[in-house]
Amino acid sequence: MQFEESTVKKGERYYRKGKVLWVVKSGGKLFSKVLGTYPYYVEIDLETGKNICTCPLGGNCKHVAATVTAYEKGAYFEAFSKSVEVFPEATALEFLNEVPELALDVTLKELRFYLNTDESGSEVARLFLRALKLVERSGREEALHILEEVLEEYRHVFPDYELITKLEEELMAIKAPFQKAL
Ligand SMILES: [Zn+2]
Repeated sequence: MQFEESTVKKGERYYRKGKVLWVVKSGGKLFSKVLGTYPYYVEIDLETGKNICTCPLGGNCKHVAATVTAYEKGAYFEAFSKSVEVFPEATALEFLNEVPELALDVTLKELRFYLNTDESGSEVARLFLRALKLVERSGREEALHILEEVLEEYRHVFPDYELITKLEEELMAIKAPFQKAL
């Protein structure tokens, strides 16, 4: 891969900031999702260096560089199924499902991202519900405070959504057992 030095630096910074949500390696290919201005999907052929990114540049960009950095640091899942090529995100989520703490981190990052960009609120609600289940599975109670803040902000953006009441009920249901444990 031929990168400008500045692209490599930007990619490394992206990686350090945790913007690479996941990387899946399948054979000689890497697939990833990177949070930039939007969520972008990257595909890299490790043998030829050929790459494509769904950002406006289309490749050879900081998202590709960040993916390579993650790969070099060993931060990737290795998959052996052909379906990765078509459904890389589904494969990544299956791996994350085995590591609830990591899955929760990735979900919270996406949640924060969509909180600022999601006009319908649907993505935020979906990720919120996923995060709650992951709090329950990982036992990471402190993440509930983050989710409470997310809900506050959500209420601020969508004050007339009945959905908020539901999300609040779900939050309380997950919170209750933790409080009993005190
Ligand atoms: Zn890109």
